[in-house]
Amino acid sequence: ASAEAAIVVIGTGLAGYGLVREIRKHDKESPIIMISADDGRAYSKPMLSTGFTKNMDADGLAQKDAGGMGEDLNASVWTLTKVTAIDTAAQTITIGDKATQVHYKKLVLALGADVIRPPIKGDALEYVYSVNDLLDYDDFRTAVAKNNVKKVCIIGGGLIGCEFTNDLLNGGIEIETVDPLGYCIPTLLPEAAGKAVQAGLEAKGAKFHFGPLVTEVNKAGSALAVSLNNGDTISCDLVLSAVGVRPQIALAQESGIAVNRGIVTNRLLETSAPNVYAMGDCAEVAGHVLVYVAPLMAQARALAKTLTGEATEVSYPAMPVTIKTPACPVTVSPAPRDAEGSWEIEQDGLNVVARFVASNGDLLGFALTGEGTKQKMALQKQLPAIMP
Ligand code: FAD
Repeated sequence: ASAEAAIVVIGTGLAGYGLVREIRKHDKESPIIMISADDGRAYSKPMLSTGFTKNMDADGLAQKDAGGMGEDLNASVWTLTKVTAIDTAAQTITIGDKATQVHYKKLVLALGADVIRPPIKGDALEYVYSVNDLLDYDDFRTAVAKNNVKKVCIIGGGLIGCEFTNDLLNGGIEIETVDPLGYCIPTLLPEAAGKAVQAGLEAKGAKFHFGPLVTEVNKAGSALAVSLNNGDTISCDLVLSAVGVRPQIALAQESGIAVNRGIVTNRLLETSAPNVYAMGDCAEVAGHVLVYVAPLMAQARALAKTLTGEATEVSYPAMPVTIKTPACPVTVSPAPRDAEGSWEIEQDGLNVVARFVASNGDLLGFALTGEGTKQKMALQKQLPAIMP
């Protein structure tokens, strides 16, 4: 079998659907095929770590099914369909068992990011879940209900781990969270802000283990025993792994497209292969890997113009991220990776205003917690654009 379309988009996450929505503002008719390995339901991924607070199952979080999205976008949406190869010379992609080839004029890779799986041993690994899409969320919620779960051990005290810690506590589940570093959200926040988040979550009943790694998850009677490399053991009913994500680069790499941390693109979102573009969590745009919603929306607007005839480079303003830990709200705007400067911190209990300042006094980033988050607008105005 074979098919063809002017534009083929692989991925129906916020990046893929966001792009096609933008394209349809400029071009209502050109044939578009969208292909997804999952069921193609539209949903807001950030809501996955608010589902217990809102008491919403996967169906509740889903906004529209693939058929409805296809109608809205005048696109053909192929679901449960995995792309296994790209022939960048012939401009075709291969689906599944090689029986179907799709020819593209323009191809967009919006493949997302894979969860990182920590190297854990033991006889109960089927009880270690991770939640990175709606189907994962459905599995996790089903397991919580089926196993009558009262207590979850969360591996990872970063952004996603802390959001789930807060969300599951709100859902009435007891939580112990393990992270090898020293405080909450350690890669984005200075210590004072991370400790404020920790204190806010502890006040809601969370228990943290900072320093050790999880080494094993084993069955222990009707419960699970999570072993840490400092000798401690945590008893729980289910484990949620949230140690981070990594851009999905395998398909591009195997097809000879340049990759680094992500699929390498310039500011036009062009990859190293002609007529192949990348965006969203899988892309490394002019050196930036930013696995958040605001950058992919900026990419969608620019790429939609490029694909409809007006070549447009993506620009990034400063894009602070709001972390959904209502026990201690956080807004963070990380400084660029190679930025030199130091933190200047004001603190009053859980309220922290931390400014990352260069030696010439310029503000390069900030981390705000509690009442400190009220300063977001004022500080955001002082930040330089990430990519002007
Ligand atoms: P995805 O949504 O992962 O979509 C990837 C798509 O590619 C899927 O449809 C998949 O099926 C498809 N695909 C992959 N490989 C293939 C293949 N070979 N063949 C066919 N299809 C394929 N960001 C924020 O800015 N703010 C937040 O508050 C926030 N909260 C978050 C909370 C959680 C729990 C998580 C997990 C993330 C959060 N993020 C947040 C990050 C944000 O959700 C992501 O940056 C964004 O959703 C990524 O969208 P995407 O379309 O690039 O990837």
